[in-house]
Amino acid sequence: MSVLDRFLRYVTVDTRSDEQSTACPSTPGQLVLMQMLEQELRALGLDDVVLDEHGYLMATVPASAGVEAPVIGFIAHVDTSPEMSGTDVRPLVHAAYDGRDLVLPDDPSVVLRERDIPALRQQHGHDIVTASGLTLLGADDKAGVAEIVTAAEYLLQHPGGPHGPIRLGFTPDEEIGRGADRFDVARFGAICAYTLDGGSRGELEYESFSADAMTLTFGGFNTHPGYAKGQMINAIRVAARFLDRLPTAGMSPETTSGYEGFVHPYQLDASVDRTRVKVLIRDFVTAELTVKEALVERIARDVVNEYPGASVDIRIDESYRNMREVLEHHPQVIERARAAMRQAGIEPIENPIRGGTDGSRLSFMGLPTPNLFAGEHNFHSRREWVSVQDMEKAVEVIVNVARNWAGTDRK
Ligand SMILES: [Zn+2]
Repeated sequence: MSVLDRFLRYVTVDTRSDEQSTACPSTPGQLVLMQMLEQELRALGLDDVVLDEHGYLMATVPASAGVEAPVIGFIAHVDTSPEMSGTDVRPLVHAAYDGRDLVLPDDPSVVLRERDIPALRQQHGHDIVTASGLTLLGADDKAGVAEIVTAAEYLLQHPGGPHGPIRLGFTPDEEIGRGADRFDVARFGAICAYTLDGGSRGELEYESFSADAMTLTFGGFNTHPGYAKGQMINAIRVAARFLDRLPTAGMSPETTSGYEGFVHPYQLDASVDRTRVKVLIRDFVTAELTVKEALVERIARDVVNEYPGASVDIRIDESYRNMREVLEHHPQVIERARAAMRQAGIEPIENPIRGGTDGSRLSFMGLPTPNLFAGEHNFHSRREWVSVQDMEKAVEVIVNVARNWAGTDRK
């Protein structure tokens, strides 16, 4: 079966994840797709096909005869973003794209135009898949799922190109930040893995932010406002002064790019008595998080000192760390991916991710895991799209990576 046929089948299953749910997977639809995949992998003849009690699906492509090579893995997530409907996805294939506007029929106000979407300019002659206007498409990350399954089928059917044992892992709930939570690294049993969850052809990502979350709770004193003179301490005003003093230029998401970090207040829970501000701290250098946190703390304490009787309580939680700190000790993991792309005629594009991936967490759990392109674009949106030819290239790259780890450079 082609990667496109697989993809078109997977996107019709509603696998939107749900932050409010405490179950794992967070939604039953994810399990429906996992069970479909489980059957498909068995039918293809993969070994050790196991769907565990948390909804993680793993399987093995056995090594080709007589090949001794380390076990490596490929990983994709089955859930789609809670931010956009994934119900009744109707995928459309726009054949031989030539720069025309792609109007999505179920809501003709949703149009993909080349001038708005620079990445479309590289797609002339390709077949573009979109949803129909009312939902996301789910290329994030069902493109990755379809590519991994198709590569596994190819490896099984072409045992002549030697490769070692290849592990496949399909995870739930990546979009709500839980994809790595119950991933059993020991059971996966690979020395490294690659997530297939990136964008444009050639993307190879092995640097992510290091991230902490800061919670500052300002305490005030509430009284009846009619009789408050000399009594009331308004925590909302204290927090407002604090927010006003936080530097923005070169220090906020809206003024930074590339390798710059930021301090980002993103949630406010306000009352006179107690106002809580949540702040994201991001930097590519983990040690710089402490510098930013010290700055935030100093501003908060200075402001509180201006309001006698006010207080502030500060909590810092670690979110994730830059996977480069792990991956730089495993240069071969990156090198073999670069080689695999060049063998497929693709020049690798290596940019830092201004966010985190499941790979960031998995890398620190003992499974070095960079991210490879899957062809996804405009994810979490009704304008989401993927190119069929990019998906086919991703399949080729997976096959090349698998063979490179067996020490054979394919022409
Ligand atoms: Zn994704």
